[in-house]
Amino acid sequence: MKRLFFLLAASAFSLSAADFSLLKNGSPQAVIVAPESVSKTVDIFNAEFQKSSGTELKKTAETPTDGNVIEIKVIPSKYFDRSRFSITFPSQNRMRIEGTETSVRFALNYILEQMGVRYPFPGPFGGHYPKITDFSLPRKAVARDAGFRLFRNMYAENEDWERALNNIPQDSYELVNHGIAELFPIQEFGQEKWKDSVWGVIDGQRKKPIAPDFVWEPCYTSKVTEDEAVRRIYEILEKNPERHTIALTHNDGFNQFCTCENCAKLDSKESEVAGKLKKYPQRLRKNNSESYFTWVNNVVKRVLEKYPDTYFGVSAYTETLLPPGFKLNDHVMVNVCTESYAHTDPSVRGFWEDLIREWSQKAAMTGCWEYGYGLTAFTLPRVNFKETDRFIKFLAENKGAVCFTEGFPSFGDGPKRYLYLRYFYHPQLDVRAELDDWYRACVGKEAAPYLKQYYDFWDDFWRNKATKTAWFNESKFSTYTAMVPDGGYLFALEKGDMAKLRALMEKVVVNADRSGDENQKKRAAALMKEFEFYEASAYMNAAEWIGINGLTDKKSALEVANAIPKILEYAQKRPVIAREILNIFPKEAWGGTYPYMRKNYEEKFTKTVFPEVLSELSAWFDDPEVKKVYESKTAAANVPESWRKTMKFLLDLNAGTIPNLVPDPSFEAGRGKWIAMGNVSPKYAKSGKQSFEFIMPRSEKGEMVLRVPMKAHKKYFLSAKVYLDAEYPPDRAFAQGCIHGINKHNVGSNYYIPVRTKLVPGKWNSISTTAAVGDADGKGDIYIFILGMEKGEKVYVDDVVFVEFDDGEKPAESVSRQPEAAFSGWVISDMEMRKESARYVKVETDKVTLAAKEKPFTYFSPKPVLVKNGDKVKISFKVSGKGSAGFGFLAYEGTGWKQVDGNVIQPLTLKNEPETVSVVLPVNGEGIGSVRPVFNLGKESEMTISSYQLTLEK
Ligand SMILES: [Zn+2]
Repeated sequence: MKRLFFLLAASAFSLSAADFSLLKNGSPQAVIVAPESVSKTVDIFNAEFQKSSGTELKKTAETPTDGNVIEIKVIPSKYFDRSRFSITFPSQNRMRIEGTETSVRFALNYILEQMGVRYPFPGPFGGHYPKITDFSLPRKAVARDAGFRLFRNMYAENEDWERALNNIPQDSYELVNHGIAELFPIQEFGQEKWKDSVWGVIDGQRKKPIAPDFVWEPCYTSKVTEDEAVRRIYEILEKNPERHTIALTHNDGFNQFCTCENCAKLDSKESEVAGKLKKYPQRLRKNNSESYFTWVNNVVKRVLEKYPDTYFGVSAYTETLLPPGFKLNDHVMVNVCTESYAHTDPSVRGFWEDLIREWSQKAAMTGCWEYGYGLTAFTLPRVNFKETDRFIKFLAENKGAVCFTEGFPSFGDGPKRYLYLRYFYHPQLDVRAELDDWYRACVGKEAAPYLKQYYDFWDDFWRNKATKTAWFNESKFSTYTAMVPDGGYLFALEKGDMAKLRALMEKVVVNADRSGDENQKKRAAALMKEFEFYEASAYMNAAEWIGINGLTDKKSALEVANAIPKILEYAQKRPVIAREILNIFPKEAWGGTYPYMRKNYEEKFTKTVFPEVLSELSAWFDDPEVKKVYESKTAAANVPESWRKTMKFLLDLNAGTIPNLVPDPSFEAGRGKWIAMGNVSPKYAKSGKQSFEFIMPRSEKGEMVLRVPMKAHKKYFLSAKVYLDAEYPPDRAFAQGCIHGINKHNVGSNYYIPVRTKLVPGKWNSISTTAAVGDADGKGDIYIFILGMEKGEKVYVDDVVFVEFDDGEKPAESVSRQPEAAFSGWVISDMEMRKESARYVKVETDKVTLAAKEKPFTYFSPKPVLVKNGDKVKISFKVSGKGSAGFGFLAYEGTGWKQVDGNVIQPLTLKNEPETVSVVLPVNGEGIGSVRPVFNLGKESEMTISSYQLTLEK
């Protein structure tokens, strides 16, 4: 007995000799000796250590003579090596951490990871802390460094979470974003004295740089441009000794590169790489890499002479997508903008991989600006583990030094964002093992297998099913796939998918509740809540009943008709769930650090909208069986009155009981009174024997117009079918309908922005719009606009419907009035453009500068100004600029978002010299409860507005 005890004790001793103990029976076994510079980092570690162990490791400045000591040594390093750390065991009771002020945190993270601490999500219930009483580290030396060593970061992400996963939150403008604006501020370089030396030559003339400052390009072959860049970078580095990176990425205008003799000479060379990439259908824009990268190399060489530990970011993007014929300085990193999900298509992957390979021959460092959007852009959880894994490993193996992801933080994408952050530090990670580990930490061992099955389904869905939809195939060759909530990817869902997924998620919740800890239960509930959002999105769009190519057969039409109660139920449910998500989820962990993201989500999803799929179904009302099911299901539906009216309207429209105000809507008797280039043609017909073959009178935008009767203060509905040849390149052509009343002064009686519909080649596309026409004087025009096509190209138009439309929306009482202040809260109406507001809008204290490029846009205040019929709105401001614009207000029912008759928009002619505008505009419309002030800016126009005032006059 005695002998046995001795043996046990000996083996226990030999174990402890091999391992370095930090915790035993719940008591701390080591102290930490750390310099002051990392004292806070040690505190963060201790707070996390305590959540698992219930205790802390004492922090001292003096090294004690006995007991285990964790000694932290902060060592200087080159900037590039700042993520490197090592852990060694120099003597029996000594553990030594060596690292920089940055990487000491990563070494301590390493210890927490060995304890089993994980961070599946950011925020108050994001971490996983197993309860432990004993913990030791094997006495094995560890040396680590980041995979992407120069810069790794995720757009809008919680910074604590980024640090917990070994990343370094950093402003993208310090390396990977557009940098010319910082180096060449236009307040300075807009001055005449720089005209002949810095301003670029556009259309044969030196072009003055005007606001906003990220649009123009200086002349890159000018010695002065080089000198000024060097001078300014010296200044920045002198003032900010902690800064080691400079963004040299060119500006973001359209065809703004200088064409002076020297620039043109360099850029006239045919790019060798362009030839190699011709086999891919990507559209390569004009190539200015020779002049631009010559400048980059010259500037970098001179800066390095004085500041040798500096790195420079440039982007393979638009005019500089292709590498030049020479090598870049070793301190230049080239960032490629691409979305790994689209690489699921071998041809897309081929293009980007070939491009990155070409770049890695010319640059010492590469990187990526990746697009990992989830909620707000996609209403199903978008995970693509396999492709992301392949892409990040590929980049790391091809000189990757930077990884950056743009996206919207949310819970529903599960492990996606966690994985990105893990990859940034450790690109060679084993994705399957990482995922298994994440599932267990996130919801507990018992629930994990079900959560794994759930995300495996989505990984397969996006990889093997969504890639067969028109949505994917139309946009896969763009910089990123089309970001559309409720988009065509939904139709890749199959019957029963959502029920199967719900069963899995219910098992996740039950098992987490039964055997998980408090955080695991909360996370399971949060994941379930977002699943319900996706579930509602699928059902309200009839995704399971509509085939991958749309509503193309009678069987699906009947199924959709039978599913009407479910469609209506979920269309009403989703905004409720969306609001619950806003209330339940911690702000710091969901919706991102940029408040506008959360707002964007709120605007998109918390309002109730009529399910559009029912309008699509109306195309099948010719079939008596479909019609009968529709009639019985809609009659029984429990829905708002306005929906009921819309549902009945669709039926009446089809039955022909609402008179179509377009004579000969399918062009059987000829072209009628349409003003448009082209004529009737038998080549295609949606109904009857022919359609109208429309010829683009000019590039970009062409229109067909018809004068029709319109009554004052009525609402109208316009729809048409548009066919594009199957061979036409996808993702280029769009169409929109527009209804424009004309008042007794012979000017427009209404203003609104109709939606654009992308034209899918090889099929009849439906376009539609509704509008209230204000005080139209018995007449107006209907327009069918075709956008994005070239002069002389053709599309086919058929089955034009224009009818009066009553959706039963009642006007609200107008309420008391209030004045409105200047530009706080104003936004761009186009959601896609709003994401990149900084490109188009620059707000200063009392003024705003707007710049439209390829696309016109509307800038408005979401805050309603309360008015009533008969009020007068006085608007005054100062304005300067160039191009075309308009201003005024949009009219709404109550204080909501339902537009009503009474919009007033005045045209503005923009001039260089500031002008004062002051007008009184009438509030004219029974239904108006509020107005929202607005500015419209035409394509390639710019304006600066100051001293804006809006007041009410009696
Ligand atoms: Zn030039």
